[in-house]
Amino acid sequence: MAKPLTDSEKRKQISVRGIAGLGDVAEVRKSFNRHLHFTLVKDRNVATPRDYFFALAHTVRDHLVGRWIRTQQHYYERDPKLGLDLEELEEIEEDAGLGNGGLGRLAACFLDSMATLGLAAYGYGIRYEFGIFNQKIVDGWQVEEADDWLRYGNPWEKARPEYMLPVHFYGRVEHCLEGVKWLDTQVVLAMPYDTPVPGYRNNTVNTMRLWSAKAPNDFKLHDFNVGGYIEAVLDRNLAENISRVLYPNDNFFEGKELRLKQEYFVVAATLQDIIRRFKSSKFGCRDPVRTCFETFPDKVAIQLNDTHPALAIPELMRILVDVEKVDWDKAWEITKKTCAYTNHTVLPEALERWPVSMFEKLLPRHLEIIYAINQRHLDHVAALFPGDVDRLRRMSVIEEGDCKRINMAHLCVIGSHAVNGVARIHSEIVKQSVFKDFYELEPEKFQNKTNGITPRRWLLLCNPGLAGTIAEKIGEGFLTDLSQLKKLLPLVDDEALIRDVAKVKQENKLKFSALLEKEYKVKINPSSMFDVHVKRIHEYKRQLLNCLHIVTLYNRIKKDPARAFVPRTVMIGGKAAPGYHMAKMIIKLVTSIGSVVNHDPVVGDKLKVIFLENYRVSLAEKVIPAADLSQQISTAGTEASGTGNMKFMLNGALTIGTMDGANVEMAEEAGAENLFIFGMRVEDVEALDRKGYNAREYYDRLPELKQAVDQISSGFFSPKDPDCFRDMVNMLLNHDRFKVFADYEAYVACQAQVDQLYRNPREWTKKVIRNIACSGKFSSDRTITEYARDIWGVEPSDLQIPPPNLPRD
Ligand SMILES: *Cc1c(COP(=O)(O)O)cnc(C)c1O
Repeated sequence: MAKPLTDSEKRKQISVRGIAGLGDVAEVRKSFNRHLHFTLVKDRNVATPRDYFFALAHTVRDHLVGRWIRTQQHYYERDPKLGLDLEELEEIEEDAGLGNGGLGRLAACFLDSMATLGLAAYGYGIRYEFGIFNQKIVDGWQVEEADDWLRYGNPWEKARPEYMLPVHFYGRVEHCLEGVKWLDTQVVLAMPYDTPVPGYRNNTVNTMRLWSAKAPNDFKLHDFNVGGYIEAVLDRNLAENISRVLYPNDNFFEGKELRLKQEYFVVAATLQDIIRRFKSSKFGCRDPVRTCFETFPDKVAIQLNDTHPALAIPELMRILVDVEKVDWDKAWEITKKTCAYTNHTVLPEALERWPVSMFEKLLPRHLEIIYAINQRHLDHVAALFPGDVDRLRRMSVIEEGDCKRINMAHLCVIGSHAVNGVARIHSEIVKQSVFKDFYELEPEKFQNKTNGITPRRWLLLCNPGLAGTIAEKIGEGFLTDLSQLKKLLPLVDDEALIRDVAKVKQENKLKFSALLEKEYKVKINPSSMFDVHVKRIHEYKRQLLNCLHIVTLYNRIKKDPARAFVPRTVMIGGKAAPGYHMAKMIIKLVTSIGSVVNHDPVVGDKLKVIFLENYRVSLAEKVIPAADLSQQISTAGTEASGTGNMKFMLNGALTIGTMDGANVEMAEEAGAENLFIFGMRVEDVEALDRKGYNAREYYDRLPELKQAVDQISSGFFSPKDPDCFRDMVNMLLNHDRFKVFADYEAYVACQAQVDQLYRNPREWTKKVIRNIACSGKFSSDRTITEYARDIWGVEPSDLQIPPPNLPRD
């Protein structure tokens, strides 16, 4: 029998038909050996797998460099027979964990789509020395470890010290005849590191530019009062701490000064970079004394990914007014035309509201500019709504109270020409609740851009078996035009397709089971239903509702062990923000339930509960293709969009979910009967709020809920610490903002329908195929095409940049 293909061979089969990939085998080998020898300074006798990874990465990078240079000017592997295990080398690459969850991952998908669509786009961010922490589970609890991802170097980045830029902090403001001066500041340098972003088979390579903080060489050496030279050199750390570590909160605002420094740092460096590029272009109308900024918004679009870069608005105003001497009204028009804002959440605890006192000290000129922006804005509102004082209070950028604060979302809405939510339902909520007054003022500003994911990473790369099965039926066009998946719809009854889709899923499940056994020493039943709930741990995402279901299944098995149960392996994974106590308790609850359920001989193979340690993109790429059931069970109205939901749909899992975020549009695309939709709609949640949510009502009425809650509360799952979950149950019963009990009954009933369908593999797989066929809308290519057309005013280009003439050695 032929040896089964490896994933990289499968990928190759469909991704490199006709093109030579990295060039011919001899070239690849030559380049690889050259790097091993001259770059890594190793020979085959002493090289480690990491050396091979780096030699290979440099070979791939060389391949991109010609295209990278050419793209900027212009605006692997056919079994290389190198004797290397490519999958083993893949495992050596570190995740660039420079974000917290969906938000950063979305930006990465957008970069992939922008390059694939040939858009002249740049992604800017911070080159954190430490990304999101690595999660260890010790005795059932989360423990954080520093993510030292740069320890062995990063083969994909290129430092660009020649483009280093100064960023100013603190100081004082002087108003004089020539204008406004920001003086006596402390300077930190921003060092750019560029990473190539290749488009899919179009020879385009865009740039992601990340900034790293560097102390200037004279840092603190001018101050004659400091201890001296040695102390001054040691204090360089203070400046360089700006890019040291990612704040690990997802959907939560923490008003720390270092975080505000990070936000200004990336914005100030990026705007200088953008303006330098504009001035050196043919559009800066090259007046040697004064640049004409009239055309700036025609040539530049800045998309604010949440309010984290909101300071771009006052910073652009400062540069235009104070530095470039553009008059205020003109500068404001340019700023508004240039900026657009994407809102990602309506949760109040996530909204950035910075204390004015922090701005006074760190960014005094920006505070003045924000006050001036707000004054003009409120004058405008007052003229339209005379006497409506409460409206002025609600719409102000400055919130009064015991601590005066700056509402960054209000600043973003005022300073942008377009504001969008990230799924249809979320964009409606934005207009009707958080930004209601702003919508009444400027309804034409508000848009929707439903999120998407890149099918290159989230299908071709992570699930080459499924991509190949699809390609056999409909060709490869879906990889750059995902709507072509609908060609599968007439084939839902095709026996060969049903068989192949089910087979690929089973292979992925076996492979993931093997990984769990090898890496985590847990044995699971690969023919059980893989029920997967992976995302950041948060009360609104309701991992607790899943826990109540697991306990309910457990109790049913115990009550009637002879009954036929559909075997399930429930996998829950995700990181808790280190300061989020309840999220950490949720992890402890999952592991505690697992330690009882998994060792109960009565349960056996029928139910297993696995906590997936250190959930991150590289783990997502492995577990999602293996999932049967995707859990998307947030309280309706709380998850802005979700993108995990889309990854599962594209990879052949069925969704159990609420009518929240993009689940609504997934149900619309596939037909609600092809998802497992349950629970309260947004209107029901609102009605329940008006009536008053009383968790006890459900607890008293539903005996299985009561049993589960009582077990958790009384220490059944935590016999060594019986009070462990008392406070959690108290929360669920008395102040649960996310109404877990209100959806329990519908959820458990819906899960029973999931079991029912799983008993019929053929019908299950047919629903899977229908879902895949209807997932085309959720390509980030579609999302980016809409941003380009409706917000940025640019056309995607299918113009192929010609391949480079590679220099030969
Ligand atoms: C896609 C993704 C997310 C976002 O998942 P949601 O379910 O939309 O919250 C978070 N983390 C990782 C590692 C992801 O790949």
